[in-house]
Amino acid sequence: MSYMPDGWTLPALDDLNRPFFTTGKLMLQHCVDCDRVQHPPEDICIWCQGDHLDYVEARGTGDVYSYVVPHHPPNEKLTTRVPYNIILVRLDDYPHVRILGNQIDAEFDEVTIGTPVRVTFEEIADQNGGATILLPQWVKA
Ligand SMILES: [Zn+2]
Repeated sequence: MSYMPDGWTLPALDDLNRPFFTTGKLMLQHCVDCDRVQHPPEDICIWCQGDHLDYVEARGTGDVYSYVVPHHPPNEKLTTRVPYNIILVRLDDYPHVRILGNQIDAEFDEVTIGTPVRVTFEEIADQNGGATILLPQWVKA
């Protein structure tokens, strides 16, 4: 039984999230008005409500702030992958930013809070004919 919509395992690309999912760089949304960074990208700045937003490249290092291990597949496509880890990364250069991903060099029971990690990119062909997705993932730094 699936309680997530079909295809949810691939992000639906839009103008706001395309830099994050397709550039092979850890691109974060930056507010030109107040010089703050936010993630995930929004139509306006969450700090000052300004709408002059561009993107900056983060260093791509951080640490495991928290994690969870799903044992029940929320989608049929994940039936063969459970259990797996989902980590919440706190970035070194933007410590208020948290990014979700998987620590792909660790089994579900090997993840530890505080582990230094660095970003890597998993290339996924978009089966709907769109852009190739370069999904930010994480490995031990
Ligand atoms: Zn702002």
